[in-house]
Amino acid sequence: MTQKTAIVTGAARGIGLATTDLFLAEGRRVAMVDRDSDILAEEAGKRDGVVALHCDVSDPDDVAKMAEDAVAELGRVDALVNNAGVADFGPIDDCDFAMWRRVMSTNLDGVFLCSQALAPALKAAQGAVVNIASISGLRASTLRVAYGTSKAGVIHLTQQQAAEWGEFGVRANCVCPGPVRTKLAMAVHTQEIIDAYHDAIPLNRYGSEQEIGEVIVFLCSDKASYVTGQVVAADGGFQSTGVGLP
Ligand code: NAD
Repeated sequence: MTQKTAIVTGAARGIGLATTDLFLAEGRRVAMVDRDSDILAEEAGKRDGVVALHCDVSDPDDVAKMAEDAVAELGRVDALVNNAGVADFGPIDDCDFAMWRRVMSTNLDGVFLCSQALAPALKAAQGAVVNIASISGLRASTLRVAYGTSKAGVIHLTQQQAAEWGEFGVRANCVCPGPVRTKLAMAVHTQEIIDAYHDAIPLNRYGSEQEIGEVIVFLCSDKASYVTGQVVAADGGFQSTGVGLP
């Protein structure tokens, strides 16, 4: 039987690293993509069945090279997980254009560039795309204009991919995680925000990297063969309640 493959961006830590391990556990070969060469080499070195590809997903030249190398190394692309992301929290009045562009270039341009570059390989394998957005892309908050807007764009881009690539047998879905204690989140989550999330989330806790990864891996699997164009919130019920944050 053909060994399945996956490409995970932002794979050197957090949700991307947990997703990599879940793919490996089900026997896939994985291309781990990240712009942080040091932790990428360290984490890839601990694992069999992976190839480490340095790439800044916001850079079109880097992405073109990554796509070429990934196809050469893996031979086929059954899944692409566009997970690399950055967060800058602040309301419109405090968001200068450099911050806006920094967030947009990774979170939205990166998803566009990687998906476009890998579309031929995904079509050839009738593969699946999972884009990582956020509950911040579903609901406005005074905390995060650039981040939330970029993630709302990721949700629409996912629906666009599903509409355009369905005829090629390519599925595209989006996962909106709730809060997870990764470096990205904990750089900006004050105790006040942590407490507010605990109160607002019906399950009264943060999620884990693995809980998000399980949803991603399911959406990439044949078990989800009739699921495309969907936005799945893995958020302990936060989105269902309408309870706001500060
Ligand atoms: P993290 O900071 O732990 O990991 C992000 C990884 O992406 C890092 O390894 C980083 O080096 C890499 N990366 C960042 N910019 C990159 C770029 N331009 N090119 C290549 N690699 C890049 O963060 P995480 O929490 O695991 O986040 C993963 C995804 O989940 C992000 O898209 C994030 O927005 C989303 N998300 C996270 C949370 C949360 O609470 N942690 C909630 C909702 C959504």
